[in-house]
Amino acid sequence: MIRIIHLLENLAEWRCVFEMGRTKKVRTTGRFGPRYGSTIRKRVAEIESEQKAYHKCPNCETRALRRVAAGIWECKKCKMKYAGGAWKPFPSVKIRSSAPKA
Ligand SMILES: [Zn+2]
Repeated sequence: MIRIIHLLENLAEWRCVFEMGRTKKVRTTGRFGPRYGSTIRKRVAEIESEQKAYHKCPNCETRALRRVAAGIWECKKCKMKYAGGAWKPFPSVKIRSSAPKA
């Protein structure tokens, strides 16, 4: 009896994956299926969640900044357009100086 319940639970889980078109761990990268390896899919999911999320607008301070295209961000509230990072509006860039110190 317990086995049957387990089987039904597994079936329900699979139906969830198929019908709702999403997965638990790899989120948006579930569309790649088992391809490319889990580490890469996880990293892509991390970046995609940033790129699809609403960010804080520097003009009206509302969380309404959305990505229009690579490097272009638009606030849905005040309609301001910004040039920013490709995947996030304010990328944290580490500037490494290769110039030797005098
Ligand atoms: Zn705004």
